[in-house]
Amino acid sequence: MNAYSEIKQLAKTLSLSNLHNNTDTALRFSLNRTNEDFLLEILKGELAYREERSRAHRFKQAFLPAVKTLSDFDTAFQSGITKPQLDTLAKLTWIDSLHNLIFLGPPGTGKTHLALALSNHALNAGYKVFFASMDRLTHILKTAEISKHSRVRLSYAQTCNLLVIDEFGYLPLSRTEANLFFQLVSKLHDSASIIITSNKGFDAWPAVFGDSVIVTALLDRITHRCEVISLSGDSYRLAHRSSVFS
Ligand code: ADP
Ligand code: MG
Repeated sequence: MNAYSEIKQLAKTLSLSNLHNNTDTALRFSLNRTNEDFLLEILKGELAYREERSRAHRFKQAFLPAVKTLSDFDTAFQSGITKPQLDTLAKLTWIDSLHNLIFLGPPGTGKTHLALALSNHALNAGYKVFFASMDRLTHILKTAEISKHSRVRLSYAQTCNLLVIDEFGYLPLSRTEANLFFQLVSKLHDSASIIITSNKGFDAWPAVFGDSVIVTALLDRITHRCEVISLSGDSYRLAHRSSVFS
């Protein structure tokens, strides 16, 4: 085996995937470089490759239904959150301090946009995120015992830094569903942040759960470290709807 083939082989054995995939580029780079520069470049390239792979993996596991960014959010249109508040959220320290965010408001006011944009931002910053509509999360919780797919999703949700529950309260929960949801929130209380988006104010939550005792216990946990952001005003969709007739 010549040196070139051996480099490729060893790079593979040592899981130096960047060097394995780009051996020619690495060798070309070595020309006219000092040994230190060359070695440094190899190591940096390997690190960048690994970081990008794990970023892509985090995005895949997060199941974001769309890409939204914080810079796309127009705070002039939405008076429920200011630009300085959005900038504070963008620092993501609320995830480190296990604070939860609850976005409340009528349809089209940007609840899902903000949840998605913060998820996107957190994923890029290296946090593990799991995004699900309440409907999907309920399905996962209910089928975890019989479905491997749900079990895998649930265990990912339980180990992430940020769990996003979108569209909470659209559908009422059965007693079993309410209990499973409560157990999940309790479990995450000391390990993860939660974002909940809902078009229902807290006063309407007992009707969603069909039980005010569980709601009291749930809100006690969720609001222990929490920011409630009430969005209001007109639907951004309606205000910016596109028309077939111009
Ligand atoms: P909600 O979840 O509150 O029903 P969405 O977040 O889905 O509303 O917003 C509906 C659409 O309007 C989305 O395409 C979203 O990107 C956009 N949107 C809502 N509010 C804003 C805003 N303040 N700035 C920019 N886009 C917005
Ligand atoms: Mg929404």
